[in-house]
Amino acid sequence: MYFFVFIIGSIIGSFLLCSVDRYHTPILSRNSRSVCSACQHKLAFWHLIPLFSYIILKGHCFYCQRKLPFYLFCAELFASINLVVLYIHHSCLSISDIFIYLIIYLILLLMSFFDYLYLYVPDFLQFCFLIIGILYNHINGTTYWSHFFMCASLSLVLLFLDNPWIGGADIKFICISLLYLPLIKFPEFIFMASSLAILFIFSSLHNNKNRQIPFIPFLCFSLIYYI
Ligand SMILES: [Zn+2]
Repeated sequence: MYFFVFIIGSIIGSFLLCSVDRYHTPILSRNSRSVCSACQHKLAFWHLIPLFSYIILKGHCFYCQRKLPFYLFCAELFASINLVVLYIHHSCLSISDIFIYLIIYLILLLMSFFDYLYLYVPDFLQFCFLIIGILYNHINGTTYWSHFFMCASLSLVLLFLDNPWIGGADIKFICISLLYLPLIKFPEFIFMASSLAILFIFSSLHNNKNRQIPFIPFLCFSLIYYI
C-alpha cells in the first residue's frame, strides 16, 4: 500500500509541478503536450512517467541529450514522500477527514513549487491555506485561534518593518501554520524546517551560490510531519 501511495504522490507532484511551471505561459499553450525546453521535441508518453523516466533517461533528454533539471526529480520525490508521511499518520481516518488532509497536501505542494520556482507564493494560496486551517480546527474540535491571532499581530509588524532576514510569504505561512498546530509543537516544527533548509544550503553550495533559498518547501514538509 505504501508503494501505491508513493506512486500516486509522484503523479500528483508531476502534474502540479507542470502546472506551476506553465503558470506564466499564455493560456492557449498551457494545454499543449510537454516538449523539451532545449530542442522543443515533443516528449513521448514514456518520457513523462514520474520518477521512472528521469531514472531511465539518466536525467537527460532522449533526443538532444541535454541535462534535465534535477528539481524535476526532486519535486516528484518530495510529493511522494509527503503523501506517504501523511498516509502513515492519518491512514485510519474517515473519508471526510482524508479529504481535508488531501486538500491541505495539495495546497502545501503548490506553495512549495511556487516558492522553489519563482521565490514567491500567490496570496490566493495563502488565503486557501487560512480557510482550510479554520475548517481543520472546526473538524478536529481544536481551537488554536489565540496563538494564531497573537502571531498574526507580530507578523503584521514584521511585514511592515520590511525585514531582510525572512520573506513575506514565509512570515504569512508560519503565522497561518499556527492554526494547524498546538503551540507546544511549534518550536519543533520550526526547528525541523530550519534544519532541513540548512542541510539543503550545504548540499547545494557548489551550484547555487547566489540563489535565495526557498524556505516554504521545508516548512511544508515539517508541517505535514507534525499535523
Ligand atoms: Zn531535448
